[in-house]
Amino acid sequence: MRRTVEFRPHTRNVFLHILTKCNLRCNHCYINPQEHGTGILGGDAIKKWLAIFASQSSGRSLGAGADTVFCSKACETNIIFLGGEPTLNPALPLAIKEAKNLGYGSITVDTNGFLFNNILEMVTPDELNYLSFSLDGSRPEVNDPIRGEGVFAACTNGIRRALAMGFGVSVIFTASRMNIHDLENMPGLLGRLGVRRFFIQVIGIRGRLSDARKDTSFLQLGRDEWESAVPRIAMSAARMGIHVTYPKVFLGLDEEFSCAGLVAQNYFVFPNGRVYRCPLCEDYPMHSLEIRDGALLDRPPITEREFFQLSIPEGCVFNKVLHPGNISYDESGSPICRVACCMLKEEALPEGGPDRHVLRQDPALT
Ligand code: SF4
Ligand code: SF4
Repeated sequence: MRRTVEFRPHTRNVFLHILTKCNLRCNHCYINPQEHGTGILGGDAIKKWLAIFASQSSGRSLGAGADTVFCSKACETNIIFLGGEPTLNPALPLAIKEAKNLGYGSITVDTNGFLFNNILEMVTPDELNYLSFSLDGSRPEVNDPIRGEGVFAACTNGIRRALAMGFGVSVIFTASRMNIHDLENMPGLLGRLGVRRFFIQVIGIRGRLSDARKDTSFLQLGRDEWESAVPRIAMSAARMGIHVTYPKVFLGLDEEFSCAGLVAQNYFVFPNGRVYRCPLCEDYPMHSLEIRDGALLDRPPITEREFFQLSIPEGCVFNKVLHPGNISYDESGSPICRVACCMLKEEALPEGGPDRHVLRQDPALT
């Protein structure tokens, strides 16, 4: 079965970067230390920040834009710990346990697979819903030119260890022109490893790739390349019992557009205290909130939130501003299709539905 996952009401997703440091240097790394800092969040700061976003007594969105999202009942809050490489932060086990104590709805750690600081021994599968491993190819010849020499072996070894210890495991594949040809081999690899949850992302021109002088046309996928491969391969993975989530990316002109900045509660939090509501703006100081002295504060205009209000025929405003080359026009100058919000997903479900409760909704990195 294939379905579009609408933005979920009464759900808050917090993407907490607990450091920006990493042992790898992936080609498409979206971390931008100039904008996100180089700090490492310690245990005390993580506890305070988790408490801010856990506040479940009210369904209101937090801070700036609070008037744009209002739920009459309490929200379930999901946390995704990210980096850099989050397992490099020795406070990660404490962070996971604290999130569990605070009643977060689901807890996920995104990792490059190196699993530093004995993370598998420091937490239990009951404390963590998912370890999500980034793997950009079904074999070293595809993955390692993107993520680094020896990374395929390290990552698949980490996956095997985590599965053997009973952890929930998912895999994230970032699709670009460097590896789209190999996507069809991923379901087979996941089947052999025993992974039943698969996220496909589209490469984002952010962080390391955002330098305007760089030509990224050799990486970015066009609409035809995306639509001819991804839904078909997702369905074939679903037939093998794998639950696949992938971004919608393009909308037909008759499909409804909505901006998650207005209708959903997603918070992208960096160790320097910046809090964005939209991941596309993360290379710019346009964050609508910031954490200062342990409190979440609104920032004055102009921030990303003023852009969320704009309605344009091309769909996502930030895509139009930052990546105008993604949009095609007909002879009259009208867009041929619209670009969906990067948070809008489709799912291909195995018969019988999802294998395990997970509410993750990651950005599609357009
Ligand atoms: S593993 Fe993640 S944080 Fe590290 S370099 Fe790669 S993309 Fe960046
Ligand atoms: S990606 Fe576009 S549509 Fe989605 S939150 Fe950001 S600005 Fe809004």
